[in-house]
This record gives sequence, structure tokens and C-alpha cells, in this order.
Amino acid sequence: MDCVFCAIINGDIPSKTVYEDDMIKAFYDIEPQAPVHIIIIPKLHIASANEIGEDEAKYVAHIFAKIPQIAKEAGIAENGYRIINNCGKDGGQTVGHLHFHLLGGRDLGAKLV
Ligand code: 5GP
Ligand code: ZN
Repeated sequence: MDCVFCAIINGDIPSKTVYEDDMIKAFYDIEPQAPVHIIIIPKLHIASANEIGEDEAKYVAHIFAKIPQIAKEAGIAENGYRIINNCGKDGGQTVGHLHFHLLGGRDLGAKLV
């Protein structure tokens, strides 16, 4: 399968790891949109949020269980941050492996909701 994030999990594409365990990996985005821009992915190829069922949701829950620690270690916990998932064409998803953006380090400004 031709998936950039699976290649990052396998170590075929290098990344700057922020956090890793047997279920998930967090690493710095290659094109940061904020002073801190971390991508968090499940170590299971889930194409998008559209593919989350009960089994996949365990990975999502684990990602969210680790976000406070990841944010704290990145130095953005106190001032706050934004978690984003882009799903599909209209959502602007460009990599077809479920991921959450963790953004912070500045006032992130305008919101959609
Ligand atoms: P999306 O647009 O799908 O929500 O987010 C994909 C993100 O992955 C983008 O922010 C993009 O910069 C990042 N990205 C794409 N390829 C790579 C890569 O090879 N390494 C890293 N670290 N980030 C990547
Ligand atoms: Zn993948």
C-alpha cells in the first residue's frame, strides 16, 4: 500500500518522533502551520474518520488519552491548542491515513465553529 504515514510508522520515511507506543505515533509536521504542529496517527491504516468503527475507535480514544501528555511535553498545554481532523475532499484531507493535527504555540485566530 502506498501510504506516507504507514511508511513513517515503518521507518521507511524519517520523521521527528514526539511520542510513540504500540498503538500510536506522534511526530512533527513537515510543513508546520504553527510554532508547534504535531501529527498524531494510529499504527493501523485507517483511511479517514469515515472508516472509524468500534475497533478503530480504540485507537482514537488512545490518541486522545495521550494528547494531554504530548501537549504538555511540547509546552502548549498551559496556553492551549487546537486538535483538527480533516476528512475527505471537502475536509481538505491530503494524506489518506487517519490523523489528528495538534497545533499551538501562538493564538490560532479565526475558528470555523
Ligand atoms: P491533511 O492535509 O491530510 O489533514 O494533513 C496532512 C499533513 O501531513 C500535512 O500537514 C502535511 O504537511 C503532513 N505531511 C505530509 N507528508 C509528510 C511527511 O512525509 N512527513 C511529515 N512529517 N509530515 C507530512
Ligand atoms: Zn497508512
